[in-house]
Amino acid sequence: MDILGIRIDNIDMENSLKKAYESMFYDRSFKYIFTPNAEICMNALRDNDLLQALNSSFLNIPDGEGVILASKILKSPLKEKVPGCIFVQNLLGMGKAFSVYLLGASHDSVKAAKENILIRYPYISVSGFHDGYFRKEEEKNIIDEINIKKPDLIIVGLGAPKQEMFIYNHRHNIHSGLAIGAGGTIDIISGYAKRAPDFFCKHKLEWFYRLIKQPKRFKRMLNIPLFLIKCKIHVLCKKKKD
Ligand code: UDP
Repeated sequence: MDILGIRIDNIDMENSLKKAYESMFYDRSFKYIFTPNAEICMNALRDNDLLQALNSSFLNIPDGEGVILASKILKSPLKEKVPGCIFVQNLLGMGKAFSVYLLGASHDSVKAAKENILIRYPYISVSGFHDGYFRKEEEKNIIDEINIKKPDLIIVGLGAPKQEMFIYNHRHNIHSGLAIGAGGTIDIISGYAKRAPDFFCKHKLEWFYRLIKQPKRFKRMLNIPLFLIKCKIHVLCKKKKD
């Protein structure tokens, strides 16, 4: 569906995994998946390059509760929330042998994530990894390494919008594989960050848990209600016109 000009795919977890699987094993040409939440969407409304990047993806899975709420406000409810970090872990946990490249997070975190993947998913191979704190001049080496190793899956966890722009800017340089802009997923796999406990997830309060854990995110998180207000205004303006 279209949310204020941003394409969000109305797809559930099962079909997202199916599409990713098909791209990795049958298609093989380079493709990328983004995981937009309300904050990323709000940023895309201010930044045309990010908007273009999002709309160019193979799949935009609805990552957060804010996007689901926005779709309800626009009277075109999305099927379900597909959290990016669960999606990636489900993909790794499918039982199918494939190779992964990890790009993002601190050096210690990405190294620990690699080790945890090898323990938890023994059929997966990690073809390489690199922390997410590199200089522009280093990007070519990273891309060259990815092209030499030819991983099936490239997990890019650089935070938004850095990861979306990195993937988009290099979409013609990376030759194969499926990349996913995965936010803090590498930190979750390494254990350097924790997902919100079940209570918060069940009551749709993951955002509140994040706020308690990282109060400095407060300003950024104002983008969530702002995005919902924008959607409401859009509906009211459309009603007036009709
Ligand atoms: N990160 C990175 N390089 C940067 C900035 C951030 O690798 O220049 C990593 C950071 O270490 C963390 C992830 O990106 O692992 C950010 O995760 P978060 O869930 O906070 O993503 P966001 O909500 O910012 O998209």
